[in-house]
Amino acid sequence: MENKVTLPKKGTARETVLSALSENRAGDSKWHEGRTFSLVYHESDEHTEFLKKAYTTYFHENGLNPGAFPSIRKYEAEVVSIAAHLLGGGERAAGSMTSGGSESVMMAVKTHRDWAFETKGISEPEMIFAVTAHPAFDKAAHYFGVKPVKVPVDSHQRMDLDSVKRAITKNTILIVGSAPQYPHGVMDPIIDLASLAKSYGVGMHVDACVGGFMLPFLRKLGRDIPPFDFSVDGVTSISADLHKYGFTAKGASCLLFCDKELRRFQFFISKDWPGGLFASPSVTGTRPAGSIAAAWATLNALGEEGYLSLYSKLMKTVDAYRTGIEKIGFSIVGNPVGTLFAYTSKDVNMHVIADLMSAKSWFLDRQMNPDSIHLTITPANEPVLNEYLADLKAAFETAKAHPELAGEGMAAMYGMVAKIPDPAMVHQFLYQYMDQRYET
Ligand SMILES: *Cc1c(COP(=O)(O)O)cnc(C)c1O
Repeated sequence: MENKVTLPKKGTARETVLSALSENRAGDSKWHEGRTFSLVYHESDEHTEFLKKAYTTYFHENGLNPGAFPSIRKYEAEVVSIAAHLLGGGERAAGSMTSGGSESVMMAVKTHRDWAFETKGISEPEMIFAVTAHPAFDKAAHYFGVKPVKVPVDSHQRMDLDSVKRAITKNTILIVGSAPQYPHGVMDPIIDLASLAKSYGVGMHVDACVGGFMLPFLRKLGRDIPPFDFSVDGVTSISADLHKYGFTAKGASCLLFCDKELRRFQFFISKDWPGGLFASPSVTGTRPAGSIAAAWATLNALGEEGYLSLYSKLMKTVDAYRTGIEKIGFSIVGNPVGTLFAYTSKDVNMHVIADLMSAKSWFLDRQMNPDSIHLTITPANEPVLNEYLADLKAAFETAKAHPELAGEGMAAMYGMVAKIPDPAMVHQFLYQYMDQRYET
């Protein structure tokens, strides 16, 4: 591992550097052709151009100090207010924007930790979440010194209530449920979890990072969406990402609390810095104002009707993918509610399927327990539906006819990882992967 690249002595013409950027993209995933599932949330070329304009209008401004940029303060406050109304929090809920889902999750954990310490003197905090909850909760637990207590899911991938009950101790500060969870797009039993949290006087965080700006519109469109937001008694905080299914620019999420009193524990204040009084809502100092402006711009440009027509169309695409995939012989994992889901099969090795699909330059996420392929559908995936299904059907037949493929490619590696008895070896492998990431 060496750092082989140094700062060039002489600069290169900006134009030449920009051409290099364009050329370097050639080997990247082709999200614009609809071949990427997850990572990129592209609504349309028109909307993307609009986002770029909104973002670059505030390209240099800094969300750190609203004193300097009152317009940014207004946008953030209005985005939070809109989110609060969409998520059953009305005028009472209070929140802030963050740089993304992970930061929202971190601040939710930190806030409940500080709240539990101050109001109940809990100094060895624990939080309960399902194995299917986003790794950001593990990360937050690790960063903030909270003990992660992970509970299993039932056969439908929903957080198991009895396990949650058994996991509650006098040190529990927070129960987490997802709406929906990312791996299978399945909703945790939020009403039951929240009522449990309330009866023990602990916090209840709903991770609606992926669903927060989708589920309210799906419900309006008549889809069966169980209550998951502040309308549910006992819910104390909700994370909802704008930069996923809100279709805004990256670097934008929203964290809401049931009231201002709880949000107080999120803020950080420094009174004795020679640089002056310092108050900050979240992890970041300098905050790109562009992502705040682009979020505000999107909510105003689309409005409720815009989101409803977007989701009405998108869910037709989702339904077509699901039906087509099932027709080939796969089954959908659990009972997903929205635009993301996973499919599996007992007849073929799913990692072989993923290998065969990758060879046809589809970028997709593979999952384990159960082995499955994850799909996050966006409007970009609509035009390639038939091509995807044709490739998948061919992959299904090839995988069935050639079981020996399980010993090749990534399938072999996944097979090995599944068999490694020593978790330390998996850790070793992942750390190596991270080191490689920074090789020049
Ligand atoms: C994406 C996601 C997160 C993390 O959000 P980032 O924006 O990637 O940091 C957390 N929870 C769920 C359910 C998610 O889908």
